[in-house]
Formats: sequence, C-alpha cells, structure tokens
Amino acid sequence: MLKGKTALVTGSTSGIGLGIAQVLASQGAHVVLNGFGDVDGPRAQVEAAGAAHDIRTGYHGADLSKVAEIEDLIAYSSREFGQIDILVNNAGIQHTSPVETFPLDRWDAIIAINLSSVFHTSRLVLPAMRQANWGRIINIASVHGLVGSAEKSAYVAAKHGVVGFTKVAALETATTGVTVNAICPGWVLTPLVQKQIDALAAQQGVSVEQAQAQLLGAKEPSKQFTTPEELGELAAFLCSSAGNNIRGVAWNMDGGWTAQ
Ligand code: NAD
Repeated sequence: MLKGKTALVTGSTSGIGLGIAQVLASQGAHVVLNGFGDVDGPRAQVEAAGAAHDIRTGYHGADLSKVAEIEDLIAYSSREFGQIDILVNNAGIQHTSPVETFPLDRWDAIIAINLSSVFHTSRLVLPAMRQANWGRIINIASVHGLVGSAEKSAYVAAKHGVVGFTKVAALETATTGVTVNAICPGWVLTPLVQKQIDALAAQQGVSVEQAQAQLLGAKEPSKQFTTPEELGELAAFLCSSAGNNIRGVAWNMDGGWTAQ
C-alpha cells in the first residue's frame, strides 16, 4: 500500500504513464500528473482509480525538454504535496530515420526528453528522498535500453543512457532507503507505437491489423503487447517493501524480446 505517499509520473496524460499513475493511485498514492494534450480526462481516470483512498491529484504541464520548466514542476509538486516519494520518469518521444538523415532537431529533442530530463528530475528530488530515507525512482527505459533496432539511433542512445544513469544513481543511493531502477518494456500499444504501426501499414501497403502482427512477430516472441496496467503493477511492486533492496536493475517486460 502506498497510502500517504506522493508519486510524480512524467508523461502521464497518455499511454504507459497514465496506466502507471492509475495503479499507484489504486494503491493509495497521491499523484502529480504531467504531459501534453487533454488533462481532465486522464486526471479523472487517476482520481477514479484512487477514489477508495481519497487520494489527491495535481497537474503541471512542464515541457521536459526545458530545464527551467522541470525545476518548476518539482517546486510545484513539493509545494502542493510536501515532497515527492515516488518519481516515475516516463515521458518520452520517438522518431525513426537512418543516421545519415536523422533530423538534428529530433536528435536533440529525444536526448533532452528521454534522457536529460531523467537526470534533472532525479537530481532535484534526491535531496528530500535522502532526508526522508525513503524514495523510489523508476525510469521507464525500453528494450531499446538493452538492444538496438535500425533507424532508432537517438532513441536507443537515450534509452541505453537511461539504463546507465539508473545504475549510477542506484550505486550512489545504495546505503539509503532510496532505490533507483529501470523498467524495459517491449511493445506496448500506445499512441507512440500506433504511429509506427500506421507508418508500417502505409509503407508496406497492408492493413493496420497486418502491420500490427508484423511488428509484434518481428521482435516479440509472445506476439502480444504488454499493457500499461501490467507496467503499473511492476512499478507498484518496486515501490513495495519487496523492492527495498532491488537496486540498479533494468527489468524487462518484453514478451521474450531480449531473451533471443
Ligand atoms: P505516449 O506517446 O502514449 O505518451 C507519452 C507521454 O509523454 C504523453 O503524456 C506526452 O504528453 C508526454 N510527453 C511527450 N513529450 C513531452 C515533453 N516534452 N514534456 C512532457 N511530457 C511529454 O507514449 P508511451 O508509449 O506511453 O511511452 C511512455 C514511455 O515508455 C516513453 O519513455 C517510451 O519511450 C517508453 N516505452 C514505450 C514503449 C511502447 O511500446 N509504447 C516501449 C518501451 C518504452
């Protein structure tokens, strides 16, 4: 149970972040949401998930590619909720292109949002977590933090960076009640992946269903998507007392992708 704890989940207006926010709320945590697009819908879903525990939610629309806005997000969360006990670094974007033609602005944005923001949020929450001698930092990396795929140079570089950063932050907090870990999902059917399925369908001249089967078949032996709820359950497990001494792992939930 996470009653009395506050979780900040970045990129929680959609997909995996929203799923994790709902599961943490269902365990009693107050949740600060962040991300773009519709806020009221996701916020209502998180509040409904936590209704039995009378949880509170907050929202801050920081653009995580901007350091000053990240600082504002952490200041807002601490001001409104006392302190952040659980930080889930989830916000992320994707762009696919060969290295030679990779757009420079996409490279910079992916490194800033998928990697550098993890450093900035972590450095800002760690002092209070150390002070409380309890904290959880959970970084949503990817199988692409462990292995590569063609045309994803920025994403794979950023996610490998997240896994490396996770290990170092875990070592620096190893004698404290603060743990730092990464989760490495395979395919999860969210807007981020739907874009890749639609592009594949257009490129191959096949239906969206056929493109989806092709995408799963190429990499994921289970041939099934992991769900945001399953990832939320894993995050909740890392937050439980069973996670007290789990440190610096890159824990896959990938249908066997990286077992091959
Ligand atoms: P999504 O597109 O559904 O959600 C991304 C979230 O991040 C949204 O809330 C969006 O508003 C937010 N976001 C994007 N740019 C932002 C910015 N600059 N500042 C603040 N928020 C921003 O994507 P998703 O599939 O749920 O992905 C979430 C995380 O999981 C990402 O880090 C992604 O790399 C990772 N991941 C996804 C998959 C997958 O198959 N979907 C697999 C492995 C890892």
